[in-house]
Amino acid sequence: MRLTPLLPALAVTILSVALYPASAQIALNDGFARDSRQPIDQTYTDHIRKYTTDPQFSSRLVDYLPASATVPTPAKVLGDVAGAPDMLPYAEDVYKYFRQLESASPRVKVFSIGHSEENREMIAVAIADPALLQGAKENGERLAKLADPRTIGLDDSKAQPLIDQSYPVYYITGTIHSSETGAPTALMELAYRLAVDDAPYIKYIRSHMIVLITPVVEVDGRDRMVDTYRWHKAHPGQDWPRLAYWGHYVAHDNNRDAMGMTLNLTNNVLNTYLGWHAQVLHDLHESVPFLYDNTVGDGPYNAWIDPTLADEWAELGWNNVAQMQSFGMPGVFTHGNFDTWSPGYLMFLAGMHNGISRLYETFGNGGADTVKRILQPEEYSRTWFRQNPPLPTVMWSQRDNNNYEESALLSTLAYFSRNTHHFLENYYMKSKRSVQKPTLDGPAAYVLPADAAELNRQLQLLNVLKLQHVEVQQLSAALTSSVPPAKRGEKPTTQTFPAGSYVVRLDQPYSRVADALLDKQYWAPDDPQKHPYDDTGWSFTQLFNVKAVRLTDTAILKAPMTPVVDFEQASGKISGSGSRSIYAIANTGQTSLLPLIYALKQAHVETTEKAFDLDGKHFAAGSLVITQADEATLAAILRKLSLDATRLSAAPSVATHPAPAPRIAFMHTWLATQTEGWWRLAFDRAGIPFSYISTQTAASEGDLRGKYDVIVFAPVGRSSSQEIINGLPKWGNALPWQKSEITPNLGLLDSTPDMREGLGYDGLAHLTTFVEMGGLLITCEDTAQFAIDMGLAPGVSVAPHDDARVVGSVLNGVFVAPSSPIANGYGSNLPVISANGMVFNVSNTLGRQGGRMLMDPYEHRPTGRGGPDDSDITQGRQLAEPEVLPKQQPWQPKPLNEDQMRNNLQVIPAQYRPEVILRFSEQKTLLLSGLLDKAGSISERAIVVNAHLGAGNVLLFANNPVYRGETIGSYNLVFNAILNYDHLRQPAASPALGQPAARTAPAER
Ligand SMILES: [Zn+2]
Repeated sequence: MRLTPLLPALAVTILSVALYPASAQIALNDGFARDSRQPIDQTYTDHIRKYTTDPQFSSRLVDYLPASATVPTPAKVLGDVAGAPDMLPYAEDVYKYFRQLESASPRVKVFSIGHSEENREMIAVAIADPALLQGAKENGERLAKLADPRTIGLDDSKAQPLIDQSYPVYYITGTIHSSETGAPTALMELAYRLAVDDAPYIKYIRSHMIVLITPVVEVDGRDRMVDTYRWHKAHPGQDWPRLAYWGHYVAHDNNRDAMGMTLNLTNNVLNTYLGWHAQVLHDLHESVPFLYDNTVGDGPYNAWIDPTLADEWAELGWNNVAQMQSFGMPGVFTHGNFDTWSPGYLMFLAGMHNGISRLYETFGNGGADTVKRILQPEEYSRTWFRQNPPLPTVMWSQRDNNNYEESALLSTLAYFSRNTHHFLENYYMKSKRSVQKPTLDGPAAYVLPADAAELNRQLQLLNVLKLQHVEVQQLSAALTSSVPPAKRGEKPTTQTFPAGSYVVRLDQPYSRVADALLDKQYWAPDDPQKHPYDDTGWSFTQLFNVKAVRLTDTAILKAPMTPVVDFEQASGKISGSGSRSIYAIANTGQTSLLPLIYALKQAHVETTEKAFDLDGKHFAAGSLVITQADEATLAAILRKLSLDATRLSAAPSVATHPAPAPRIAFMHTWLATQTEGWWRLAFDRAGIPFSYISTQTAASEGDLRGKYDVIVFAPVGRSSSQEIINGLPKWGNALPWQKSEITPNLGLLDSTPDMREGLGYDGLAHLTTFVEMGGLLITCEDTAQFAIDMGLAPGVSVAPHDDARVVGSVLNGVFVAPSSPIANGYGSNLPVISANGMVFNVSNTLGRQGGRMLMDPYEHRPTGRGGPDDSDITQGRQLAEPEVLPKQQPWQPKPLNEDQMRNNLQVIPAQYRPEVILRFSEQKTLLLSGLLDKAGSISERAIVVNAHLGAGNVLLFANNPVYRGETIGSYNLVFNAILNYDHLRQPAASPALGQPAARTAPAER
């Protein structure tokens, strides 16, 4: 046992005592009375009360613990009671307790539900009367029919007996957020109470429903959190390391994965939730005093949920607040500023799969210290929905937190257990309406037209749907269908879809999640909700850059089609009658072309610099030509990477260059690792190898170019350039992040004796040299700002975006440099996600604002007589015509005249001027999904720019091309750049380096 018992093992004192009513509680007509005949565990009870800082932070549901002669309490494993100060159990110890509970009680069963990225186990614990647990399989079969009413022909008369015979499953998940530490112990004790307590209301719960518990969702992060907390307890009075890594890839965003389904924890929870056919998924968080049951939350609600769900939210949320109010517990509310628009949250898996999603925010201290907390006015204000608000100042303990979590859960479970029939009826109704979607609300289906050019990305999108348990079919024959107009009032058209087109029909149980992901989103600029909680747009068809046609005509549902079970069979073909010595892969924007280079180590690969036609096929620029490959080996790799190849009769006649496997370093800071974590995940999943280094490594490594060709400096997440250079403040003690006896789980991904050190000026110099010597540095958002601030991107600046409003929106990008290898495989446009509307200005001169506005405040003509296109006339002398002011587009640099260039040290030589790759479209077509308001200052501005420094390149992104597993369509902006890292200089823009620049050429690129 890795826990140090802070108290001598608790002796179980069994006494028969009467109820202890807490002062503010009313015990009249009490539905929550304990069974006075059942003895209580006095020692445990005494400790609960000791650790509760104020009796009003407890309830009569949890201020005692019933005793059992056979079932161990959490103290058996913890060495103290749940929520005791100064102690956090590792996941392993939490599981040990649940398995002891299982051994001791027939009311508890533990199931393994999968593993984390670092191979730690996740469990689910089922609690109910033995009869229910023994009948769980048959109950599950009944619930499966309610969940998929097609099995009973949507026949209510067949559903009724199933509802009558079934009992629901209520799934509770804890500590997805690793710094929110209270749930595991609260859930240990909750499980004990549910298994042991003979209070009539608890007996009713366990005889009418199954409570399912996953005590630790983010199990990798939990163990690291316990490590840092142990370090803190071992170093009293010192600063302690912040949690640099939670899960293997991401931190707080592990609760934004319910769309992309990239993390193991998301898939494990969804599979458990659907495997049990649970009705509720209730996720526990700890960042709001004292209990924000954001079941009701705030608008706008997600546009794809069944309205019944909103009623269930209201019913459960307001009821729960009222229950807690009756216990006299202050600071409980259910309406708040969390809008329920994005379906990216873990609990929303239930909302999108015909269940009920819920989330508690209780109050936590980020560990188990008992400390004084000082609340902000907005937290303690009395509002219409929070008549009994939290106290402004409070001594708060982990036990207080556990009291709130358990009291609220027990009371809501009690409510649910008395209404199981009602909730099961709703569950069936919602499932039935999901199947009836094509005729009730539509659409009927989405079709992804068979298209070899899109197949690689289509399969990735369809795989997400598969992970969401959505069924996908393929047309057996070509089909012509009417297609609704793009705009209201226009006429419908018709379209013919070839055989093999993928069909996502929406007469299936999980049609809502398919519709929510594939549809477009619109957030009105004047929506009363002024603070969207997360992204406002996410359309997967846009972000995966695939065509999907939304059909409302239900005729599609009668077309012959077959279910797709194995996506792997769809690609990996080698065709053509050419030789078995030259193969080509046409570049159509497959994201696995770069991974192929690493997988094909034995073969030789060349990249074509221009498009060519051969053997009756078209090959776009950036197609790969493979020689010296064994066909069987090649075929296996192609299948794995969803790529098709052609045997060529001869080598193509266009210019090619070798495609060596670039040596990539991923550089992270010790400030935050989440946003780069999403990039790391994408590279790992694609199979692109890299060295993982920190800014501290760059500071100590003088020869970065000798080791790497590409350094990926993915976003830190709202950090300043100063922070990247300086690191964390150094007034206090060193903050180690490394493996030690008390921190065995730290240091797996990277380690340092002191997290506070930043890149420093040595690191900056090394990075600069790396680029100057021909390396490629990839930057994005805050690291792009860093590259600009530090002089690594001459001529690029971040443009002011004034009052433009963008909140995680999908916006329309237009390629400016279609001949750049970065644009290989793309068409003319690309949807991108924009966090806040960041855009760049480019300039032919150095200086602030890219020198754009500095030299000439007049865009057109000065004030004077005449119209906009006239010249002013000075009275009393002959007209002197000024030079015509050059016009340029918003994404272009301002051309300079000879006067401005004469002896101007700020003018950037032509070959060093930045190249704009992608820009935003004009205002009218800019919004694709989400919120966009006042777009004038950002429309048509540059968003992807390749800057030149010495012999190398610095690629800057204002959009995040690799985001939450949702932006497959823009991955290749990064992968193409890496694949062509040594061919990013456009011939026209790069006369031989070192030659004097042609300073008169206007760089209108
Ligand atoms: Zn949280």
